[in-house]
Amino acid sequence: MNPLGELGELAAALPSGPGALLTDPDVVEGYRVDRSGGAEAGRPLAVVRAAGTADVQATLRWAGARRVPVVPRGAGTGLSGGACAVDGCIVLSTERMRHLEIDPPAQVAVVGPGLLNGELKQAAAAHGLWYPPDPSSFEICSIGGNVATNAGGLCCLKYWVTTDYVLGLEVVLADGRALRLGGRTVKDVAGYDLKRLFTGSEGTLGVITEVTLRLVPPAGPKTTLVAAFADVTAAGRAVTSVRSRARPAVLEFMDAAALAAVEAQLHMGLDPSWRALVLAASDLAGPAAAEEVAAMVGACEAEGAVEVAFTDDPVEGEQLLAARRMAIPAVERLGTVLIEDVGVPLDRIAELVGGIAGIAEARATTIAVIGHAGDGNFHPLVVFDAADAEAGARARQAFAEVMDLGLALGGTITGEHGIGTLKRPWLRAQVGDDVLDLTRRIKEALDPLGILNPGKAF
Ligand SMILES: Cc1cc2nc3c(=O)[nH]c(=O)nc-3n(C[C@H](O)[C@H](O)[C@H](O)COP(=O)(O)OP(=O)(O)OC[C@H]3O[C@@H](n4cnc5c(N)ncnc54)[C@H](O)[C@@H]3O)c2cc1C
Repeated sequence: MNPLGELGELAAALPSGPGALLTDPDVVEGYRVDRSGGAEAGRPLAVVRAAGTADVQATLRWAGARRVPVVPRGAGTGLSGGACAVDGCIVLSTERMRHLEIDPPAQVAVVGPGLLNGELKQAAAAHGLWYPPDPSSFEICSIGGNVATNAGGLCCLKYWVTTDYVLGLEVVLADGRALRLGGRTVKDVAGYDLKRLFTGSEGTLGVITEVTLRLVPPAGPKTTLVAAFADVTAAGRAVTSVRSRARPAVLEFMDAAALAAVEAQLHMGLDPSWRALVLAASDLAGPAAAEEVAAMVGACEAEGAVEVAFTDDPVEGEQLLAARRMAIPAVERLGTVLIEDVGVPLDRIAELVGGIAGIAEARATTIAVIGHAGDGNFHPLVVFDAADAEAGARARQAFAEVMDLGLALGGTITGEHGIGTLKRPWLRAQVGDDVLDLTRRIKEALDPLGILNPGKAF
């Protein structure tokens, strides 16, 4: 069997027409990697830009008959290697599947997986509604990718993560069958909650072809607070303390290396003596907001903040949050970046950020730390020069040590980005043999030929 020779059959089988199949090597190259930087990627055979569920079904049937791997792909902004190609695969892109229906009375959106998160937010806002999950990449990542990774973001601390908004899914299985799971109702306990099984499954169990999402009334305007610290562990303690006194809408963290990278790009006048910045926001109204902000200021001051300021000017507040959102691209300008996603219980945050600083020093490696601190979820960004093999080895060692530290603190190796390929070696240490065995049996039941995103997630 020569799959290359049979691509003509795939082109002919695609209901939207042969134009959906891309084989030009230069074009295919653009679908080979995601944004993970350090993750390995193979060479795809071709790309299918599916126009609808029927294209996805045809692709999977063709691939199953030939044992050709299929790598589902949204917008390719993933940070763990999940959408990276494997050798000889079909990359199945959902970028053309962008249909959108908003049902205001039901407070529901039904969307194609390729629709961008930001596009959904905008469309919902036009109806006076809100789709809360807000990965920093919301302007460039797809809803299908968000569901497949169970994406989090800045406001998830108060408004939860993607899975909490998924009411229904259409999923195409490896054998080409399309399933409908859940629906438009807010509550639904008919049978196992299989939509949750597919949420966060990183393209290994099925291809998500439609998503029904819960929308909510918008939150109020924010009062945004920044607190600067001369010591990272004090900032970590402040986060734990804020969490015990308030339920902020945002609670983010940036260390000195992240602040320096953002300052180099945005020239915001951030003080280079600051070792960490905590960014928080309240979206309560009136006296309740003042009370919540005062509680957060008090928590930061009690932990020794060297500067605390807050604003209820929405433009200023958004600029501060934009600086936080810019941190990953700003750090990416410094070199090759291995992006971590560790999460720890709320009372272990100071130990995590202090420990990471120690690892960076011991390995003589830059680790810029940002995080959705209020969730205990941090993204240490390990930076190295790809041309320097020795620096690369030190960076990989540091990456491993941060992961081990997260686990030693009772945490997780990934809070929102997924395992992909980058974190696979640590999964067994976190979940244990029995859970891994059950995971494999679920995979075998749904994808017995193992064609869906092989080598990813476990
Ligand atoms: C600057 C920056 C900031 C970021 N900030 C955040 C953040 O705050 N929070 C956060 O959670 N993430 C963040 N991310 C990571 C990334 O944007 C998210 O993981 C996002 O959900 C990926 O969406 P995507 O469309 O790009 O998916 P892709 O990268 O294309 O794919 C991700 C995974 O989902 C699978 N997949 C994609 N579409 C489907 C589908 N339709 N069916 C089945 N499987 C599918 C892929 O196979 C892959 O395993 C950030 C990324 C960047 C670059």
